[in-house]
Amino acid sequence: MRAMVYRGPYRVRVEEKDTPAIEHPNDAIVRVTRAAICGSDLHLYHGMMPDTRVGFTFGHEFIGEVHEVGPSVQKVKPGDRVMVPFNVFCGTCFFCARGLYSNCQNVNPNATAVGGIYGYSHTCGGYDGGQAEYVRVPFADVGPGLIPEWLDDDDAVLLTDALPTGYFGAQLGDIVEGDVVVVYGAGPVGLFAARSAWLMGAGRVIVVDHLDYRLDKAREFAHAETVCFTEHGDVVLHLKHLTEGLGADVVIDAVGAEADGNLLQHVTAAKLKLQGGSPVALNWAIDTVRKGGTVSVVGAYGPLFSAVKFGDAMNKGLTLRMNQCPVKRQWPRLLEHIRNGYFKPSDVVTHHIPLEHIPEGYHMFSAKLDNCIKPIVVPSAA
Ligand SMILES: [Zn+2]
Ligand SMILES: [Zn+2]
Repeated sequence: MRAMVYRGPYRVRVEEKDTPAIEHPNDAIVRVTRAAICGSDLHLYHGMMPDTRVGFTFGHEFIGEVHEVGPSVQKVKPGDRVMVPFNVFCGTCFFCARGLYSNCQNVNPNATAVGGIYGYSHTCGGYDGGQAEYVRVPFADVGPGLIPEWLDDDDAVLLTDALPTGYFGAQLGDIVEGDVVVVYGAGPVGLFAARSAWLMGAGRVIVVDHLDYRLDKAREFAHAETVCFTEHGDVVLHLKHLTEGLGADVVIDAVGAEADGNLLQHVTAAKLKLQGGSPVALNWAIDTVRKGGTVSVVGAYGPLFSAVKFGDAMNKGLTLRMNQCPVKRQWPRLLEHIRNGYFKPSDVVTHHIPLEHIPEGYHMFSAKLDNCIKPIVVPSAA
């Protein structure tokens, strides 16, 4: 089959690779019809995620058609159109039983913190991802969900991470009516978080980024006020001015460790393995929220040390809430919101890229060319 493969930092290619096979009775093989490139894929692309191996295939956001199932699979069959959460999870362990699907105990035995994630390095379990023609899906009775007939492919693929994660970010903020909510990051997750905040009763929503075209999108798609942080010497001070000097009630970090990879991070993260990326957005969030407020973190952070202003968080009496999104838990409610017309997830899609052109796609997305917000990868047989 044809698949995207990692060759080293800033180098990805499309190559011929063995088509995945059933390895366990509860596996399925899915023929990919849409995959998305995610902002967090740039951590891998920039070589900032430990144990990203040459030859590995990225892609934790994908949908497709079931091609083959193992002998014990009962809930999906060949031909079914399925969406697959980015989390690999068993469905039965202590954590899965509590709905903490992103914290499954059985899918990444070498890790004490992160669970299993498709296409996200051997640190996250070493599961090849969906930026390929086919992908192996373990626990096929547990993760995949049938895509309703009325839902388009471009909308469905955004239900595998970006929309559930943004919505989850707003949920973790424990927003109450009238709250001032600041969202750091106007990528797809931040846009969805901002839009979700209104659903939960926010009185004001302010989105912070530095890319004008994304801030335009935040005003148009999420009806948010916007702040461009490069236009203000001190963005925290500016946000304090906007919030009566107190700070926001809730701040959502939809950025994570800086994926842009400035020089300092390259030295510390890639060479010395000390710092998993700068927590600039998180420290701004801690500074921006009012005393006693809540900081919700859904941006991606790697397993390595991050210099977070924990003392300030403690002394302000903050509530810090965070996790990788347990995607499948979000689906019933989000499908209702989509069906009711509140969300059209594919509104954030800006590009469709043939799988064969994925190296150019990564370059475009990484360099933020052509006003790219969300690129969707389409294998030629899809
Ligand atoms: Zn993602
Ligand atoms: Zn589990």
